[in-house]
Amino acid sequence: MKKNSFKVAFLALILTGLVQGCSESKPQAASAFEKVDVAEGQTMGTFYRVTVPGGYEGGSQALKNEADAAFNFVCDAISTFDENAELAKFNNHRSLEPFEVSPYLANVLEEVMHESLRIGFATDITVGPLVNLWGFGPENRPEVIPTQEQIDEVRTFVGPDKFDIRKGKIPFLVKVDPRVRLDLSTVGEGLGSDLLASRLDRQNVANYMVAVAGAIRTKGVNPKGEPWKVGIEDPLAPGSTPFAVVCPQGMAMSTSGTYRNFFIDEKTNERFSHIIDPQTGKPINHRTVSVTVIAPSALTTDTLDTGLMVMGADKALKWAEENEVPIYTVEINEKGEAVGRYSRYMEPYLKCELPKDRVGIKE
Ligand code: FAD
Repeated sequence: MKKNSFKVAFLALILTGLVQGCSESKPQAASAFEKVDVAEGQTMGTFYRVTVPGGYEGGSQALKNEADAAFNFVCDAISTFDENAELAKFNNHRSLEPFEVSPYLANVLEEVMHESLRIGFATDITVGPLVNLWGFGPENRPEVIPTQEQIDEVRTFVGPDKFDIRKGKIPFLVKVDPRVRLDLSTVGEGLGSDLLASRLDRQNVANYMVAVAGAIRTKGVNPKGEPWKVGIEDPLAPGSTPFAVVCPQGMAMSTSGTYRNFFIDEKTNERFSHIIDPQTGKPINHRTVSVTVIAPSALTTDTLDTGLMVMGADKALKWAEENEVPIYTVEINEKGEAVGRYSRYMEPYLKCELPKDRVGIKE
């Protein structure tokens, strides 16, 4: 079975384009600012890039230190790839006894469950054992297609009712079955973006873009003094010209997609993506290949985008119209063409008007 090499990658192309690398803060010809600081690096098995037009106090290295501190904080709480992380320890706690967790992790789990409930738990963070069964989790399983019996067995301890969050002075998590394993991979990038954005806001940074793979937070304007523009990748030509350009206008934006992270069964040539339908216990295999969501927080966008991928474009767009959520879906039709559709609430974000109060522009 061939596993696609792109484990996790930028699903949203960052269209700032002006400043490359991590240390450049020399004024760029087309830049509207004297200084633009950029920090880049790796986190959560993927890439990040933070851009601050107008410069960051202490320069790019200070910005990188701030970014790494925020992302490490999130990883220490929610990673299932690091045995010492809180969530990994809970997953390895094969007992029905209450397990003490930090208020941060308890609050994240509560918020993710609330957002997941909105879409009928199409996003279901208890799918960890199914993710591992299909070989996409931290346990490098042999790449074989699980049997229906194996899937049915694992599904007996998957579902939103299989664990409880006990909030109080000291928060606890309680399993209904010792084999329960939570998986926050779908929202980790969004949590990282939100945490760093909140720290930059507290430091009164006027313009920034935080991108952790496909989870984006923006504020103010880009190095050209224009609205931040984020591309939705063309699934048929990843990394080339974007399929669509979105201006998040200070909102969070994230994209979930199946066209990069998948494996192919060489016997049947069937393609299996890393997104699991909790109802079937199997990877989704419909024609929708990416869903982009806009919302006030990246926790919300990153929780919803995966579940809306599970639903597929028709149901996702119906839900988005009923719930007034800006989403953009891309499907591959019978002719093999990429087809984009979006909810009416996405329209304002497809027009890239200048924000009213542009801060720090050199006149
Ligand atoms: P998304 O669509 O955002 O999320 C899909 C992921 O969510 C799947 O990979 C699966 O884990 C899970 N999922 C699948 N179906 C569902 C569902 N229906 N409901 C809920 N969740 C579902 N990867 C590595 O290879 N190496 C690492 O060291 C590593 N470290 C990580 C540390 C942290 C803290 C986190 C959060 C993730 C880490 N990952 C690592 C995993 C990697 O980042 C994920 O594969 C990636 O986050 C998936 O994001 P995505 O945008 O590709 O897919």
